[in-house]
Amino acid sequence: MFRTHTCGELRISDANKQVTLSGWVQRTRKMGGMTFVDLRDRYGITQLVFNEETDATLCEQANKLGREYVIQVTGTVNERYNKNKNIPTGDIEIIVTYLQVLNASEVPPFTIEDQTDGGDDIRMKYRYLDLRRSSVRANLELRHKMTIEIRSYLDKLGFLEVETPVLIGSTPEGARDFVVPSRMNPGQFYALPQSSQTLKQLLMVSGFDRYFQIVKCFRDEDLRADRQPEFTQIDCEMSFVDQEDVLNVFEGMSKHLFRSIKGIDIEEPFQRITWHDAMKYYGSDKPDMRFDMRLVELMDILKGHGFPVFDQAAYVGGICAEGAATYTRKQLDALTDFVKRPQIGAKGMVYARVETDGTVKSSVDKFYSQEVLQQMKEAFGAKPGDLILILSGDDVMKTRKQLNELRLEVASQLGLRDKDKFVCLWVVDFPLFEWDEENNRYVAMHHPFTSPKPEDIGLLDTDPGAVRANAYDMVINGVEVGGGSIRIYDSELQHKMFRLLGFTPERAQEQFGFLMNAFRYGAPPHGGLAYGLDRFVSLFAGLDSIRDCIAFPKNNSGRDVMLDAPSWIEPAQLEELHLRLEEIKE
Ligand code: ASP
Repeated sequence: MFRTHTCGELRISDANKQVTLSGWVQRTRKMGGMTFVDLRDRYGITQLVFNEETDATLCEQANKLGREYVIQVTGTVNERYNKNKNIPTGDIEIIVTYLQVLNASEVPPFTIEDQTDGGDDIRMKYRYLDLRRSSVRANLELRHKMTIEIRSYLDKLGFLEVETPVLIGSTPEGARDFVVPSRMNPGQFYALPQSSQTLKQLLMVSGFDRYFQIVKCFRDEDLRADRQPEFTQIDCEMSFVDQEDVLNVFEGMSKHLFRSIKGIDIEEPFQRITWHDAMKYYGSDKPDMRFDMRLVELMDILKGHGFPVFDQAAYVGGICAEGAATYTRKQLDALTDFVKRPQIGAKGMVYARVETDGTVKSSVDKFYSQEVLQQMKEAFGAKPGDLILILSGDDVMKTRKQLNELRLEVASQLGLRDKDKFVCLWVVDFPLFEWDEENNRYVAMHHPFTSPKPEDIGLLDTDPGAVRANAYDMVINGVEVGGGSIRIYDSELQHKMFRLLGFTPERAQEQFGFLMNAFRYGAPPHGGLAYGLDRFVSLFAGLDSIRDCIAFPKNNSGRDVMLDAPSWIEPAQLEELHLRLEEIKE
């Protein structure tokens, strides 16, 4: 038997027991005639003790152990003299009487401890070693617990987990497809699913009524901290539901996760905001509601006073940072540099402090009387000690988005984005379409299967940009954790939608004929949503990047540096797949 207990299990109540443990050597320390070894496995760390006086040969063996050796020991559980309050096994140690090396290890390329000396690249290359670190392992344990809770919650509500294929045709979620050449169908390609959208809708036509799947999706997009080319969705669909039904079920699921995983009771209904208001008041379709700091429009107050920048702008607006009037010139310059970074793109920033006597001092005082500045102060409801930050621009949406970045940055600086506080929000009433400047046409804001609000259907022909969708996103702390919609289930309306999106009838039929045909055979009203599991787990774990809750993630260039993928393939394999490569310039 390799072990009687794990390395995280033994307590003071086990004192004097004879036990056998197996695991990895995290560290050895020699102190006088004693050698201490930290033995690690998935469950924790237990201290082993070897005493030169009682068994010199064994102690000698222990002194030869290197980091990450795999060993098996037998010994007696002993109450520790120097207790370690930081680990659950810290009250005990094992006085070892038998030691066997099960496998030696080369010196690992970085130390496998919470505070490792390994940088990102090396840890990714040796990810199997990185996964031995308790912080990374804890994220995967959390992920496991969350999926178990999700499955059990949905199962209790009658949801059925159904697997859908991975080698399919294109599913339009707005990204590029990953494609797979078909050997048996020369010149033809499968696309990997960007989502299981069309298939889950077909399952509704089949009568499955309540479906879910924890499923891999693939999107060929530029990567960011919250994006990976392959990621996992908790994909759900329901029949005979309206928007309210869907929101209720999944609000319930999120609350269940908060309760069962984080021990947090979110009793209140989730806040709701329309997309329009989210953009107006927060400059974002995923506002972080842990703090207010709303955007306030100042056109009426600040335009027309001779300050050319504002006078020429299409939008002037700002935020009020409570108690931040103490910001120094240096801090304000840094904020100005922040908004001027190319990723944000503001031209500059105007600021105003509310002094202790209530007067307002701004960086553009020469253009504005105290009376106007007081009006501005009133618009924010600002108090002495507050700091007002103002941006302007010739594009309303763009300037609001810049203000959102500023709002988030200032809130981070003021400590308002506490990772242990959670505020959940539904963003509803998204526009059905958005205008694609590059291609000069409308694209679906969510996807082409999303239904318009019944009261807006009349606008489809006259003013498509104004049509609102039965679409919703769940946003927690500024992270879009899920999104979905009530679907079109009428083949005529679906045809029309494709037409509005610029599909010829032939192309629509070719790509989505299967769905529109299915709608002719009794499709029930249906709707659903998908959560991004990786984002949800990261949020619960307080991580900055979803990579840290994925066992084997890709880097920012979409590479798996451990497997060295993607990689070249043999000419014979190319031939078999009927592919010829153009010369690629490296
Ligand atoms: N398929 C959608 C997505 O991947 C979710 C949904 O509408 O259910 O975002």
